[in-house]
Amino acid sequence: MPNSAVFVPHFHWDREWYEPFQVFRHRLVTAFETVLETAEANPDFRFTADGQLAVIEDYLQMRPEHRDRVAALVASGQLAIGPWLILLDEFLCSGETIVRNLRMGWAAAAKLGGAMPVGYLPDMFGHVAQMPQILARAGIEHAALWRGVPGFVDGHAFRWRAPDGSEVRTEFLFDGYGNGLDVLLVPEEIGRALGDYAELTTRRWGGDPVLAMAGTDHTAPDPRLASWLRRVSGDEAAITIATLDAYVREHVRDKVSLVVTGELRSHVRGNILPGVLSARLRLKQRMAVAERTIDHAERMNALWSGRDESRFLELAWHKIIESSAHDSVVGSGTDETADQVEARLAEATHTARAVRDAAIAERAALIPSDGYLVANPLPFPRRALVEVDVVAPPEGTVLVATAADGSTRPVQLTSLAPTVLSDERMDASHLERVLRRIHRRELFGRLIDRYELTPGSLVFHLADVPTSGPFDLLVLRREVAAAAAARPGEWAVRTLAQARATALVPVPVPACGLASFRVEPGDGAATTFTPATATARTMSNGLVDVAVNADGTLDVTSVDGSVLRGVGRLVDGGDRGDIYNYAPPANDVPVSEPTDVAVELLENGPLRSRIRVTRGYRWPTALSSDRDLRASETVSTPVETLLEVRAGEPFLRVAMSFLNRSADHRLRWHLPLADGVTKSAAAGQFAVVERGLTAEGGWGEYPIPTFPAGSFVSSGAVTVLLEHATEYEVVGDELAITLLRAIGAISVNIHPYRDEPAAAEIPAPGAQDLGMRVENRFAILPSSAGWRDANAVALAEVFRNDVLVARGSARYAGGLPPDATGIEVGGADIFVSSIRRVANGVEVRLVAMSDTGSTARITGAFTEVTTVDLLGRPLATTSVTNRLDLALGPWEIRTVVVQ
Ligand SMILES: [Zn+2]
Repeated sequence: MPNSAVFVPHFHWDREWYEPFQVFRHRLVTAFETVLETAEANPDFRFTADGQLAVIEDYLQMRPEHRDRVAALVASGQLAIGPWLILLDEFLCSGETIVRNLRMGWAAAAKLGGAMPVGYLPDMFGHVAQMPQILARAGIEHAALWRGVPGFVDGHAFRWRAPDGSEVRTEFLFDGYGNGLDVLLVPEEIGRALGDYAELTTRRWGGDPVLAMAGTDHTAPDPRLASWLRRVSGDEAAITIATLDAYVREHVRDKVSLVVTGELRSHVRGNILPGVLSARLRLKQRMAVAERTIDHAERMNALWSGRDESRFLELAWHKIIESSAHDSVVGSGTDETADQVEARLAEATHTARAVRDAAIAERAALIPSDGYLVANPLPFPRRALVEVDVVAPPEGTVLVATAADGSTRPVQLTSLAPTVLSDERMDASHLERVLRRIHRRELFGRLIDRYELTPGSLVFHLADVPTSGPFDLLVLRREVAAAAAARPGEWAVRTLAQARATALVPVPVPACGLASFRVEPGDGAATTFTPATATARTMSNGLVDVAVNADGTLDVTSVDGSVLRGVGRLVDGGDRGDIYNYAPPANDVPVSEPTDVAVELLENGPLRSRIRVTRGYRWPTALSSDRDLRASETVSTPVETLLEVRAGEPFLRVAMSFLNRSADHRLRWHLPLADGVTKSAAAGQFAVVERGLTAEGGWGEYPIPTFPAGSFVSSGAVTVLLEHATEYEVVGDELAITLLRAIGAISVNIHPYRDEPAAAEIPAPGAQDLGMRVENRFAILPSSAGWRDANAVALAEVFRNDVLVARGSARYAGGLPPDATGIEVGGADIFVSSIRRVANGVEVRLVAMSDTGSTARITGAFTEVTTVDLLGRPLATTSVTNRLDLALGPWEIRTVVVQ
């Protein structure tokens, strides 16, 4: 018999999973109505609303008339809501998205009476290292979670410590978030069952009351729960009903000494389902694009626009956060659900892009239409390579780019666009129909510069910027009608565009700033950097050398002379697992040798060199029917690798692309490491996490050491810069990056790597990505001294964040406006997570990505700085003059508002 037990009635509400959102929401409205009625009828009933405010929002959207009932239960302490907006997947969104999730959930809960100050993380598939700091810097002292806790935690609580030293007392839901349900199975036997459970788990509780989480997925607690427990309480045990918040505040008396530092990815007490990292690749890519676009939108809006776009940004953030749910971006839902997540992320991107482009357009309106604006979203100056479309120069003419200050830079022309847009024959009576293509002056997306009308022939000359004076469509109409009447029979109609070329221009852009240039004929410009060069099979820029081998792999030599040999071997193996977990077929036959290799030189500097390597493979079409073999039938798959070296960049850009025509397989890209590598480091949510070669197992899941990486992964003498959350594994002396995992079910019942099904065996043919073009982009940064010496934090930002380019739209000719700086942030290993407009200034969030801390110097036009917590609440204000030095501790996240 336990001393006491505390029941926490709740439900766990995956908003979308094996059913799409609207189906689950319909159930939610019914379930939550039961909760409201139960709570109102039983003053001693309590309910914890799953730690995510979205369930309340979703309910009130359908039942707005019950808002006061919800608020009343929050006020009386019967209902605990928030603090999150969504129970996210922590590894598959950015650190910034995690912060905004907490912030939006907290703010919405405040309007209903206040959030539960517990970082409740019941179901996510492992936990990121910086979560304790995120919670602590939001003023939250407690967490409660299940999956990922290491085996040495033998009690029911531990102190969870982030890399910066922040800690939260963490309730370990070691039997999951539904451990109380077994006790409630037979209402007449609750007392006995509770006694049995307490005895079974007594080692973990010590003198503390048993925490019985009384709830499960998508189900309201039984309305009779309170009366059942009343009957048992006092009679056989001291039983209370509480919210999770009340349990950790009032019922937990133990002092916890056990400390767990960093991320939680042990498989020892619960499955962490690591296969989700590589399932449904497109969702991971869409998430990264949405996060990047809204980040750029916020920065450009804060620094370069006068518009209040807060409602658009809030809408976009809401959609991103919704999509970060632990069954959403992970891809573990049905195809219907995945389609919806993809569309939602696309819509978030569209919304953010509109805000971003509006801000840029405001500034482009100050630049003549033969000029270009370049905006740098990063808070440090950089030289960007910009690609623009220009009028093709006549033979023998050299183009240069001229900046606002008159300085010139070389231009590399890469392609010429066709000039004949149409060449038609038609009867004179049809000429009038051609004129319908013209809208005021526009024809085929360009402007009519002039036209030639001679008997039997009409020629349009189009330009982006007309130079021939005014054009009058009514005049043309009259002239064409007269000419057609005068000359019946066949006419020739041609539309000729000014010849265009794609020009590459190196543009120095200030920190979070703007620069402009125009491309014009000149005498050439001095090159101040080592050019990028190429031969048929090699490329170099003085910082990285690349040679393509006969088998299509690469030898990559860094500036310090170290060589990586055989980079980019592709290994395709079978996968008989499911979305949650990879599993090889018993008799796997990996394919790693190409059948043919073609190498093509595309560009040869001086600013950019490109080589395309196309390797043909014969991959099995699928698994065979017994699933322990791959099918003997194969399909020919050409895989293109576009290699790119830019002048001044110490890394090799790689873009992979192929049309997937095989099912049930996993494709990985291999990179050789030095012998005896024992660890890897991966940049993720506000941290770079070091990992060994194995993972802790023990529960019903094979502890496969595939791990997540956000912006880069580093091992041995190389760092790979990444565009989106990516799965990797150190295999022998190689680093393997997963390019595609194609599987056909959410969960299979019989799984070689997992004892219990993770869901029902629901087909997910969309997760095979059959017929889809699979594209992966990353960069190889050779770095024998490790990621820090290679400046990987900043270079990953450069790789991931292209500058934004817009054509000038001013209707006057003239000079270019001077370059302008926004906010500059300097300092070693400083990562800037967000720059955005808030009510009282511009909020900047920084992280010291270093074991020793770092000093960040912020420069800009401001005179006052307020340090705020992660929820935006002010902590301290100081006066400054356009410059601020912030000493950050190791891995510290700091948020300031400058004004
Ligand atoms: Zn869940």
